[in-house]
Formats: sequence, C-alpha cells, structure tokens
Amino acid sequence: QETINKIAAGEVIERPSSVVKELVENAIDAGATAVTIEIKDGGISFIRITDNGSGISKDDIPMAFLRHSTSKIKSIEDLMNVSSLGFRGEALSSIAAVSQVELITKTADDFTGSRYVIEGGNEISLEEVGAPDGTTFIVRNLFYNTPVRRKFLKTAATEAGYVNALIEHLSLSHPDISFRFINNNQNKLHTSGNMNLKDIIYGVYGRDITSNLMEISGKTQDVEITGFIGKPVICRGNRGYENYYINGRYIKSSIITKAIEEAYKGYIMPHNYPFTAIHFKINPSIMDVNVHPTKMELRFSKNEFVYRFVLETVKECLANRELAARVK
Ligand code: ADP
Ligand code: MG
Repeated sequence: QETINKIAAGEVIERPSSVVKELVENAIDAGATAVTIEIKDGGISFIRITDNGSGISKDDIPMAFLRHSTSKIKSIEDLMNVSSLGFRGEALSSIAAVSQVELITKTADDFTGSRYVIEGGNEISLEEVGAPDGTTFIVRNLFYNTPVRRKFLKTAATEAGYVNALIEHLSLSHPDISFRFINNNQNKLHTSGNMNLKDIIYGVYGRDITSNLMEISGKTQDVEITGFIGKPVICRGNRGYENYYINGRYIKSSIITKAIEEAYKGYIMPHNYPFTAIHFKINPSIMDVNVHPTKMELRFSKNEFVYRFVLETVKECLANRELAARVK
C-alpha cells in the first residue's frame, strides 16, 4: 500500500506547486472564504495552507488520507456531474506518502479541534487540541523519502515562481475568495475577497494590461462567458497571458485555446497570443474532466459547439471595439 501510494503520488504531486494546488482546491471545496498560503525554500522544506472552511471532524481524518477516499463523490452519476475541484480522493494520500504532514482542523460543530501527524504515509499521532474553525495543513520536506524525485526539483527560487504563478491563477479564478501568499516571510500577494476581476488583473499585471482590456460576455445553452480580453496591441509572443477558468478551475482545453486565438487572426498585432482573463461556466454534463490525474486537459461532448460559441463571442467583442473606435 505504501509503495502504491508513493507511485501514485508521482502522478499527482510533481513539485511544491502541485501540493499547494491540491490543498488550496480542497480549501475552496470546503467553502473557505479566506486562504493563506505560506512557503519557505520554494515550498520544498515548508508549505502551510490555512483556510476558514468546514474543517474535518476527528473521526474522519484518517479516512481522508486513504487512497481513493473522497467525501465528494458517492456514485457514478456524481462523477459525470463533477462540480467540486477535487474528486479523485488522491491528493491527501499522495502528499502524505512523500512528505511530513501536520494537520490541525476543527469543524464548527465540534468543541475541540484535532491535530494529526502523518509522515511518509505512516500515522504518527492523532490528538485533540484547541483550534479555530477551519483547517491548517503543514507539509514539510517534500520528497524526503524519494530522493530521486527530489533531484528533479528546480532551485527554490524557480519553485517559488511556480507557486506564485499558481496563486495568481487562483486569485483570478476566485475573486470572491481572499488569498494571501507569503514567500520566505514576505507578503507577495493579497486579495480581499470582495474585489472585482479587473482589480485583481491590475494587482497581478499592472497598468499596461489593465488599460487595454475589453469586457467580454456571452451566454448560450450550457456555456456562459464573462471576463476581459486584451486588445490586439497587447498580444504576446507566448501563451503565458492566456488565462481562462472553467467552473472556477484553471484548466486547459485545446478547443478553447484554439477558438480564442483564431478570433484574433486578421487583426494587426505584434504577436500571436492574446491576453485573456475569461471565466467560463460550462454545464458539467457536457464535460469530460476525468482524463488525467492532474485534471489539466478537458474535453467536451459538444466540441464543435463550444468551439463555435467561443470563437463567435470573442470575435464579436473584438469587432465591437473596432466599431467603437470608428464612431469616436
Ligand atoms: P478529494 O479532494 O478528491 O476529495 P483529497 O485527497 O484531496 O480528495 O481530500 C480527501 C478528503 O479530505 C476530501 O474529500 C475532504 O473531505 C477532506 N478535506 C481535505 N482538505 C480539506 C479542507 N481543507 N477542509 C475540509 N475538508 C478537507
Ligand atoms: Mg482534493
């Protein structure tokens, strides 16, 4: 079992940013409105995620660390209608298999909280402690027991950069949640949880991008689009500024990427890749998210329909801007 968990961990947990991603997604699934992420040494030696979500009762803790244990899916039908971020029940078991985890958590219904320690997949202790409502995960010494994998990590600065990029995406995908990111005791990013998307774009990208945005929106059966796209003049030489979120998840779909880029063709612009910060709301019943353990590629049962709608909506937004410019 321990070996299986270690191998499985390799699919889900590649680097510190994968740990942060899984733990923050769990916090969001638990209804948190504020999440603090703290790392040291690029997250290799220390990651702490604190949320004010539902918490976990003492009796449920050991279960949560079992492979394929999830409280989010009860049947095959649920699997087809996945709307929460996590659903495979692999993250906690995988993280615990390759690091030293300390969990402090309390539900609103319980009088006391719990503290649980698990290292390399071995339970060390479970005891009652005083704690505020919510959950804190501390993950220390990632890959301490799998030295080969540890060798694949980049420098602390590079790993911290990956975590930073992830937190930017999390902030952009959830303007309604307050995020705080602290790297080596330095405040790196803070969103208040009641900012609009444009404020967050400003916080992450600054004035040059924010002053060249157009608001985009569209709605059809099963698909809704809101957010901002950049004018053609701020197009880039790579896809690094193409942000979009599907049902609150930072996830890539080649269909959507192609549709967005196609819409920009025909405009005179310095580079091929636009800036976007788009939120898609897509009916889960037309999505297939269960394609890879990290859940990063996504398919639709109506690929052609989704492609057309995204293409037309982005095109229309760009065309309206042309119109506005001519009227002026
Ligand atoms: P999944 O998210 O796919 O269900 P995980 O391994 O990530 O699987 O988490 C296992 C379970 O632990 C979750 O289903 C949830 O019940 C519980 N859990 C994990 N993190 C939190 C959290 N921050 N707050 C409340 N419950 C949590
Ligand atoms: Mg999860």
